[in-house]
Amino acid sequence: MKTAVFPGSFDPITVGHVELVRRAVPLFDKIVVAVGVNSQKKYLFSLEQRLAWLREVFADEPTVEVGSFEGLTAHYCRSIGARYLLRGLRNASDFDYEKTISQLNEIVGEGLETIFLISQPAYSHISSTIVREIIKGGGDASPFLPEGVNGV
Ligand code: ADP
Repeated sequence: MKTAVFPGSFDPITVGHVELVRRAVPLFDKIVVAVGVNSQKKYLFSLEQRLAWLREVFADEPTVEVGSFEGLTAHYCRSIGARYLLRGLRNASDFDYEKTISQLNEIVGEGLETIFLISQPAYSHISSTIVREIIKGGGDASPFLPEGVNGV
């Protein structure tokens, strides 16, 4: 069983994340979209809210599950029997950051492989960070949010 974990904060989930997961569905038997919880970090949306949105957005994808974890992503992958990580690349700074993390995860995760998908051009400018800025500034973030996700 080929299981991949797609880890992130998803604070909130954007159309960029959704596009990436849907493109990865044919590649794996199961994809677990997993919210990583870092107790030091402050989030805009609660864990419960972020999980509820993820469940709603992927309700129509039978091979996509939603989860959450604390601690190392590699340890979470091992605990659920996932041998693949899924990550998106939008630009060169994503690449620089992801390259290091992927190399570390390969060691810490004892062969855990990271599979990268390059974001489609229409989504490569979208990040949860800019979406949060728009929401905090009172703007309309709906063009960047999946249907059913209301960032207000
Ligand atoms: P993190 O908290 O690790 O920054 P995010 O929730 O922002 O996590 O993103 C999780 C993953 O989704 C990362 O691999 C990131 O590159 C990818 N991603 C985010 N936005 C997009 C997008 N617009 N297109 C493709 N991939 C994206």
